[in-house]
Amino acid sequence: MLVTAFHDLVLGGRCVGCDRPGRVLCLPCRDDLQPTPRPAWPSPVPAGLREPWAAAPYDGTVRAMVLGHKEHRRLALTGPLGDLLAAAVAALLTDVAPDPARVVLVPVPSRPSSTRARGHDPTAAMTRVAAAVLRAHGLDVRRAALLRTRRGLADQAGLDAAGRAANLAGALRAHAPAVARLARAGRPVHVVVTDDVVTTGATAAESQRALTAVGLPPLGVAAVAATARRTPA
Ligand SMILES: [Zn+2]
Repeated sequence: MLVTAFHDLVLGGRCVGCDRPGRVLCLPCRDDLQPTPRPAWPSPVPAGLREPWAAAPYDGTVRAMVLGHKEHRRLALTGPLGDLLAAAVAALLTDVAPDPARVVLVPVPSRPSSTRARGHDPTAAMTRVAAAVLRAHGLDVRRAALLRTRRGLADQAGLDAAGRAANLAGALRAHAPAVARLARAGRPVHVVVTDDVVTTGATAAESQRALTAVGLPPLGVAAVAATARRTPA
């Protein structure tokens, strides 16, 4: 991460929050990033969606961070994004499982073609950081990549709520070997789905469906940010 920050500096990087030359996220902008985790129910609510929590509204610096990380490979943002995600996970757990043992964070999977094009898997990376942050606070939390995309899944961007739901029906599946590894440990687990942004909730609901189908119903969904609620037309 230091190397990336240095790289940004040498190559004339700019803060994604205020455009000031230098670090990818300047210290004043980073200090301003106070997570405000709250339930982030989309409207309409997809069938079966469990509690979604987000650490911030999807605008301003947070939006710029998510996009810079995802689309422009500003990898120095993985840490601050992971911190925000950890705050959302902690708030969700406080609400639904005040004394949770063995929490497993399951990132919403990216399509393999997206990961190749971007050169990284942003949600997986920030989920790894969030798990480490929560472990540092004494919680029994780790990350497990239990979900995979099916072939033929289109990019969700540009689709409306109905289009997203149709595109996503049956789009994700649990990865049997990873689920088996988890089961071998024997003890029950508390599963939380993690994502970067909650928009319509369709991806979160599909992730829950796929995990519930293998006997791992998630407690809820935690995300860095959520878009403003949509009012049904
Ligand atoms: Zn700044």
